[in-house]
Amino acid sequence: MAQDTINAELFSILACPKCRSDLVYNDTKTKLVCTKCRKEYEIKEGIPILMVK
Ligand SMILES: [Zn+2]
Repeated sequence: MAQDTINAELFSILACPKCRSDLVYNDTKTKLVCTKCRKEYEIKEGIPILMVK
């Protein structure tokens, strides 16, 4: 199990804070990427950092 894997229950409620679209992992599973606006969000210790700067 990867260190930064987000648990399924949390993942199911995640949405982009900017446009409310679904988020998916990037290729290396180190970030989440919005399926619509393509904004990337970092994952820290299994917790996605969903902040709009
Ligand atoms: Zn978005």
